[in-house]
Amino acid sequence: MSNTNRRDFLRASVAAAAIATPLNAAQPAQNKTDSEQLASRLNHDLHTHTVFSDGAHSIALHILEARAFELEAVAVTDHYAPAGRISKSEEQFDLYLAEIERARSGQDDVIVLKGVEASALDTTGRISIDQQHAARLEWILCHLGGEAEGTLRNTPSDKRQYVENVVRTYMGLCDVEYLDVIAHPFNTGNTRPPAFPEDYPPHLLRELAAKMAEKKKVFDVMNDMIYWFHKTSIPPRELTAQYVELVKLFSSEGVMFQVSSDDHRTGLGNTRWAKLVVTRAGVPGGQIVDPKRIARREN
Ligand SMILES: [Zn+2]
Ligand SMILES: [Zn+2]
Repeated sequence: MSNTNRRDFLRASVAAAAIATPLNAAQPAQNKTDSEQLASRLNHDLHTHTVFSDGAHSIALHILEARAFELEAVAVTDHYAPAGRISKSEEQFDLYLAEIERARSGQDDVIVLKGVEASALDTTGRISIDQQHAARLEWILCHLGGEAEGTLRNTPSDKRQYVENVVRTYMGLCDVEYLDVIAHPFNTGNTRPPAFPEDYPPHLLRELAAKMAEKKKVFDVMNDMIYWFHKTSIPPRELTAQYVELVKLFSSEGVMFQVSSDDHRTGLGNTRWAKLVVTRAGVPGGQIVDPKRIARREN
């Protein structure tokens, strides 16, 4: 009986697909090629955590998973936060680099980048990693976190001042030569007041986007952006719609993008929402970072 039901169900979806075909066929064939090309450019996870900061897995298991999931590339980007494990001890930093080196050698399944996620410290663009330590790494992110004075730390009560401070901080990060990526930009929902993507004046965003493009700073489309808004009551699909508009604006100024899980708890390679946003925003494949070029130090 259940087989019959199942066949009926299949027949129904075939019929539905047949009805849908004329609509799909209305799109130029070129679109399909573009979206296939985009999908292959997005097969990476360039922001992830391990036990060297607040992630759940060892580096070895982490890279084993990236290989199993057939990602093209993964970046290990543990927090390089003030007083964090790898920033406060040279031995731990050496061990971190050595473990990534060991786990990535002897396999060609996945490109593994040695990275960190640094912290912005204030609105001038000061960050928690210096040039000397950065020189030993291949992919350097910086985020706004609890240490970022004037934005996520001591958040101004005036929202206009707050969003200006956020943009000023990112403008400052653009001047850090050795920085590659701004991690999950505009993660400003869980503060009081919250700042939503649509709270940012477009002229400020355009100025920032132009500078990011000029200084080759990558925009990290991180999968779990809803986490940064969970203390607000914004409906998730509303956040998605607003974030898509942000990504569109940055894309139109020529900014490069990456996708990431920002994995802390076994979500390695989970970039489902990030891909949805990049695709919906119509980011061209040529504006997605190419991990092969990063690994060859060509970016
Ligand atoms: Zn973390
Ligand atoms: Zn992170």
